[in-house]
Amino acid sequence: MRTQTKEIQDNLTPKCAHDILVQGNKRFAENLKAQRNLKDQVFETSKGQFPFAVILSCIDSRVPAELVFDQGIGDIFSVRVAGNVVNKDVLGSMEYACKVAGSKILVVMGHTKCGAVTAACKNVKLGNVTTLLEKIKPAVDAIRKNDDELTAEQIEEVSFENVNVSIDRIRKESPILAEMEENGEIEIVGASYDVNTGLVEFH
Ligand SMILES: [Zn+2]
Repeated sequence: MRTQTKEIQDNLTPKCAHDILVQGNKRFAENLKAQRNLKDQVFETSKGQFPFAVILSCIDSRVPAELVFDQGIGDIFSVRVAGNVVNKDVLGSMEYACKVAGSKILVVMGHTKCGAVTAACKNVKLGNVTTLLEKIKPAVDAIRKNDDELTAEQIEEVSFENVNVSIDRIRKESPILAEMEENGEIEIVGASYDVNTGLVEFH
């Protein structure tokens, strides 16, 4: 598997970038990891990086973006925060990845059995966690129909909706990324990872 270069990155369309992620996840789920010499990739990327994707995902230990998409050193920008929520620093990181460093696809990836989403559904209060969970509340409110506790199935719906909320916020709060998407320079897309199967489903 080749290391990302400026030339490869320049010639990549957002659609190609999307396909690379789909193929990578397929390899991961089938346990057919591509051959890479990570040590060589460290050397090859030491003078510059040209990642093709930026992925906002959860801190969950079961969902490391590089592994679940079978990517190597220098391939993706990985932004991770519990519940894959958006704030100004996250937006800044994504603007840097796309506008300055040339990434072609921006993925917001939620996952099943997310502790942060579950905690938001259960209205957990704990130090700074409380502030973080507030950002998931719009997704909880979109799914909650009454005062009953949400079922496991509804919590997964919140997780899916939470990805959409993050995507909406990216488009609304980052004119830079919204314009790049409008111009076809990048794709902005949601995805969900299933911790049971290892498969990513794009929304
Ligand atoms: Zn999570």
